[in-house]
Amino acid sequence: MVFRNILSRESNDIHLIISISYNLISYPTNQKEKTMRTKIIAGNWKMYKDINESAELLNSLKSKLAVLPNGVKAIVCPPFTSLALAKELLKGSPIALGAQNMYPEDEGAFTAEISPKMLRSVGCQYVILGHSERRQYFHESDEFINKKVKKALAAGLIPIICVGESLQEREKNITNLVVTTQITGCVQGIPASDIEKSIIAYEPVWAIGTGKVATPQQAQDVHKLIRELLAKLYSSSTAEKVTIQYGGSVKPENAKELLHQPDIDGALVGGACLKADSFTAIVQAAV
Ligand code: PEP
Repeated sequence: MVFRNILSRESNDIHLIISISYNLISYPTNQKEKTMRTKIIAGNWKMYKDINESAELLNSLKSKLAVLPNGVKAIVCPPFTSLALAKELLKGSPIALGAQNMYPEDEGAFTAEISPKMLRSVGCQYVILGHSERRQYFHESDEFINKKVKKALAAGLIPIICVGESLQEREKNITNLVVTTQITGCVQGIPASDIEKSIIAYEPVWAIGTGKVATPQQAQDVHKLIRELLAKLYSSSTAEKVTIQYGGSVKPENAKELLHQPDIDGALVGGACLKADSFTAIVQAAV
């Protein structure tokens, strides 16, 4: 199509040719960076697994994922009550630790909340922020999530920033608008150097815990939109570095096709991460 456009214009349209040539030259660079993105599979345990059940799952994961496939990272995000145990049990394992939420203050009178510093002290490297369940049941806004993202980054945590449309929004054909608004709000004031190390998880709400997975093409379309948005907000070089995970009923049976879409760099897994076999199979499917 690009070439058809060139041919259909006057040959002396230098500006057009220069700008298109520039795109053609820059494309292989982006492609090279794209293929270098590590696939990251994160398990969101949600409010499952008491301390004994956590120990059982962690020990099993530790042995099944003693060595991770090349170019793949695995993260587990147990409930707060199991984080300290996870830090101990995962010693010597390549599996990284993350939390499911945090409060955006260093410390203070915020009964029952957990600070980023506390998460760091129990070995967390990642934190899930703005999960749709937090947005839905705890009324978290993009502005509040943005505050959390900034605090997480300042404490040395890598945020996994969740976005996604509801079924109603998809049916109204406003998926792009919803995701664009969420991302723009969540990354407000965050420099490129911090966004490049952050993770964005696209999780269509209608696919979470429902067994209704987005088709690989539906997911890829939104991931591409997210990358294009990041290119507009930052630059294409920054956008190419950001890990964009898909989440929503990812299972061993559908993981491979999803994880091999050009803009899908990993998965945020709920239900299927609660069993060592299925989480392991998803990690293996990333290669
Ligand atoms: C999630 O909670 O982030 C999630 C994607 O859940 P599930 O895999 O169960 O749909």
